[in-house]
Amino acid sequence: EKIQEAAKGDRVVFSFEFFPPKTEDGVENLFERMERMVAHNPSFCDITWGAGGSTADLTLEIVKRMQNMVCVESMMHLTCTNMPVEKIDHALDTIKTNGIQNVLALRGDPPHGQDKFVQVEGGFACALDLVKHMRAKYGDYFGITVAGYPEAHPDVIPANGIATKEIYENDLAYLKRKVDAGADLIITQLFYDTDVFLKFVNDCRQIGINCPIVPGIMPINNYKGFLRMTGFCKTKIPEEIMAALEPIKDNEEAVKAYGIHLGTEMCKKILASGIKTLHLYTLNMEKSALAILMNLGLIEESKISRPLPWRRPTNVFRV
Ligand code: FAD
Repeated sequence: EKIQEAAKGDRVVFSFEFFPPKTEDGVENLFERMERMVAHNPSFCDITWGAGGSTADLTLEIVKRMQNMVCVESMMHLTCTNMPVEKIDHALDTIKTNGIQNVLALRGDPPHGQDKFVQVEGGFACALDLVKHMRAKYGDYFGITVAGYPEAHPDVIPANGIATKEIYENDLAYLKRKVDAGADLIITQLFYDTDVFLKFVNDCRQIGINCPIVPGIMPINNYKGFLRMTGFCKTKIPEEIMAALEPIKDNEEAVKAYGIHLGTEMCKKILASGIKTLHLYTLNMEKSALAILMNLGLIEESKISRPLPWRRPTNVFRV
């Protein structure tokens, strides 16, 4: 089934993103964790694709196992730069043969160690090219998801960190072209200012983007990782978040507890606005994602098969 169908219903739905681990043991651990998380009925799970096809074989193996052995509706990410079209079609043919209908169509970042992405000869330059190609070659077999950027894409954000109205509107207009070319659903880049996300949804609706827009939520797990990720994505960090993190930054447990508190509050506000979908960037970890969903009343504690150390009343951030 295509994942956009569940996103259009009346029920609140949630989904989990994973990435391909580096070792065989890591893969087995991931599947154990995924089995436990899938017991909570996510509407889908997705697996990332290493830029330039660096994880192609592993991503394909994992997504097949997710769909057909874990039995969860699965989506494969697929980037289209630094890669020949044959490799893209091989990936699409493989998942089609295995009954997987969902793809997150992306441009991709430059592969590790390079600072620019490359359009290979005869290949694609942006996600829009991939969406067009998929619709031309595979008709409506695939449910196509694309990435949306509530603060504009980091490439077009100037050095001062603030996208002008014109830059932001151009970015939205380009997103609309991806949807008009056949994308069915948008998942957003991470954000920490919920108002920015809600404004983005409203602005998308104003220009006629009507498909579901799913907020990408990344629980803060670790202070340095948070700074690295938000720096890379040029994400705005509200002052109160920095103020809350500063005194606890060296206490990993306290940072995690705060991340759960913040994630819960962000999701509450999003759900209160009428949006019924949540996408959790798990970074292959289960605790924060499940704790947030439990705080929201979306999953039952009795179904969590592990002890819950993160629910100890550690400090003021406990929800
Ligand atoms: P595009 O949609 O092609 O464009 C990115 C930006 O470039 C646009 O927002 C726009 O500002 C500008 N642009 C491009 N073309 C045009 C045009 N014709 N006219 C005007 N402006 C244009 N990366 C991975 O390598 N693997 C993954 O699995 C992965 N998963 C991701 C999942 C999500 C939900 C998100 C948000 C990102 C993910 N990324 C992943 C990162 C992504 O590859 C990068 O953000 C990349 O730099 C852009 O990809 P895109 O598909 O958004 O690009």
